[in-house]
Amino acid sequence: MTDSIRPQPGIMKIALYQGGAAHLAGRSDAVKLSSNENPFGPSEKTKEAFARAVHKLHRYPNTDHASLREAIGEVHGLDPDRIICGVGSDEIIHFLCQAYAGPRDEVLFTEHGFLMYRISALAAGATPVEVRERERTTDVDALLAACTKKTRLVFIANPNNPTGTMIGLAEVERLARGLPPQAVLVLDGAYAEYVAGYDGGAELATRLPNVFMTRTFSKIYGLGGLRIGWGYGPRAIIDVLNRIRGPFNLSTAQLEAAEAAVRDQEYTERCRAENARLRVWLAQALAERGVPSDTSMANFVLARFADATEALACDGYLQSQGLIVRQVAGYGLPNCLRITVGDEAACRRVAHAVGQFKEQRR
Ligand SMILES: *Cc1c(COP(=O)(O)O)cnc(C)c1O
Repeated sequence: MTDSIRPQPGIMKIALYQGGAAHLAGRSDAVKLSSNENPFGPSEKTKEAFARAVHKLHRYPNTDHASLREAIGEVHGLDPDRIICGVGSDEIIHFLCQAYAGPRDEVLFTEHGFLMYRISALAAGATPVEVRERERTTDVDALLAACTKKTRLVFIANPNNPTGTMIGLAEVERLARGLPPQAVLVLDGAYAEYVAGYDGGAELATRLPNVFMTRTFSKIYGLGGLRIGWGYGPRAIIDVLNRIRGPFNLSTAQLEAAEAAVRDQEYTERCRAENARLRVWLAQALAERGVPSDTSMANFVLARFADATEALACDGYLQSQGLIVRQVAGYGLPNCLRITVGDEAACRRVAHAVGQFKEQRR
């Protein structure tokens, strides 16, 4: 291998993303609560639309995504011309970094923020800047203080993963208005649908020229395996992102399943209500067993243990009981485990197992 063949600067600093574990050796009945997936999967109408797409496999997909963008626009009350669709919201995050951040530019995100912000910033050659949070919550003052002339993008997930906490829209607007003129605020709304009455920041992204929102079909819509996300924001930014988007980035099956999913808001509402009910139950059941958590607004609970050793030991015990949750040391939270809100049986199993674990350690 010759020393002359080298990747772009920054790329070798990227740590490979580790997905949530999906299997446990020797167990076929393991319950996966490690990737914030919807335990009920996609709606029937969504599955039917996906199945119908089998008849069109020989045709190239539509390139402008007009039909999906119109459906999203109708459901959310947004202008379809200001929407872009991608291979998960991960691809939209990637487009934003590629288009707006390069060498010598800074990309800000919060201390316990989503790992893709760092990965996409480094892939673009930009400098990732991690900003401290306050009590596992986005701190607007700290973000504003961290801005410089080099800041091009500021990512916050609201609600955030893996903390589950969120800040109010007045605070988000204060952040947007305080940014330097060359910076864009990206509101990652992957869990927005889980918050009743919250628009994910859509109204702010309609009104302010420096606010962009990303959304996904991977969480409440139960389509993590299909990879569809979208972004909404100022027309000028959409125009820029469309220039680097592959013309056939989404397949016909992705486009048609996503359209059926977003039009089925009755199903989405049922998933939201069931998640809210079980999330409260799970957080309370864990607290009663000596494991506190911050109030989560999403479809997971960040369970807090005495220290990293106890969190690791609990994860080991849960695995022995066929329960897969997520270690979050990589997010700067070594004393915590992130537990997705599963169906009722899964919630009961995980609460019971955590209780047994705590009992044994007395
Ligand atoms: C799960 C998640 C996403 C979704 O990513 P996709 O690429 O759309 O599957 C985005 N942001 C955050 C914070 C997430 O937790």
